[in-house]
Amino acid sequence: MKKRVYIIYTGGTIGMQPTSEGYAPAPGYLAEQILSMPELKSELMPEVEIHEYDPLLDSANMTPEDWYKIARDIGNHYNNYDGFIILHGTDTMAYTASALPFMLEGLGKPVLLTGSQIPLCEVRNDARANIITALTVAANFNIPEVCLCFGNQLLRGCRSVKVSTDGLDAFASPNLPPLGDIGVEIRIHKNLVLPAPQSTLQVQELKQVNVGALPLWPGIPAQVVRNFLQPPLQGLILRAYGVGNGPTNNADFLAALEEATARGVVIVDCTQCLRGSVHLGDYATGSALARAGVISGFDMTAEAALAKLSYLFSQNLPVDEIKRLMQTDLRGELTN
Ligand code: ASP
Repeated sequence: MKKRVYIIYTGGTIGMQPTSEGYAPAPGYLAEQILSMPELKSELMPEVEIHEYDPLLDSANMTPEDWYKIARDIGNHYNNYDGFIILHGTDTMAYTASALPFMLEGLGKPVLLTGSQIPLCEVRNDARANIITALTVAANFNIPEVCLCFGNQLLRGCRSVKVSTDGLDAFASPNLPPLGDIGVEIRIHKNLVLPAPQSTLQVQELKQVNVGALPLWPGIPAQVVRNFLQPPLQGLILRAYGVGNGPTNNADFLAALEEATARGVVIVDCTQCLRGSVHLGDYATGSALARAGVISGFDMTAEAALAKLSYLFSQNLPVDEIKRLMQTDLRGELTN
């Protein structure tokens, strides 16, 4: 029997058309093009249903409300389909791919995000191959995870980052090898794929919470940090240097962090480096941050850490429990 795949089309370059202001989403166009693809007649292809969102969004306009809408949509159709594909803009695809695993607790089916760097309407494009590959993976492989399927790679969603503005392999998961390589054959590395869940899917709510991210830069004024940490901020991803270091020759900077953590703000240290992990005890400039109450984000991407913080604050957990869970691997997002 043919597998059934539910496609959610949220917007993005993949289905855009040229306008006088540059590429913009074009309602109706992409669904029509996909449904008329001759490839869909192949035995390897699943039956598809396409749900086009209104309005279609350039992903630069997406918010956590949109992440939650996608999670609910998957939850509502979960029992009727074997897999799910989310067609999404590339700009914030890694954020959505990082947030969905936390909301989709007990996920036992593939949820694949894809999009393209060149729209399907252009003669030379990466849209067609990305759609066909995602459909092939969703219909033929047992991957109980949220993944980003793009170019030659299948990546764990909550490990992914956008690394290229114009390359066709636009994404990477710098701290985890790809779950699959898309070449002449599609090779899934089963040893890396998460095990099937013990429980059935439960969509966890994502509320409007006040979290943010702030990069350090040499000479960052303490007042900027203090202002950023003002209420209603509940949590901060601090993008620090190297293994998680920050300036210790600025007592007011450290005081601003300490005042905030004492008020219950959760400050998570994630590195500005693309690869590797935070080790707060390696340098005096990291230990001082830990003493100010900052916790380690280990090797989480800033995207995953921000999404995880949003999810944990949505659960109404005590601050100490949020801190503990931020440092615990929940969905394959962290190694410690
Ligand atoms: N601005 C577009 C978006 O993220 C870029 C893309 O899809 O490649 O929606």
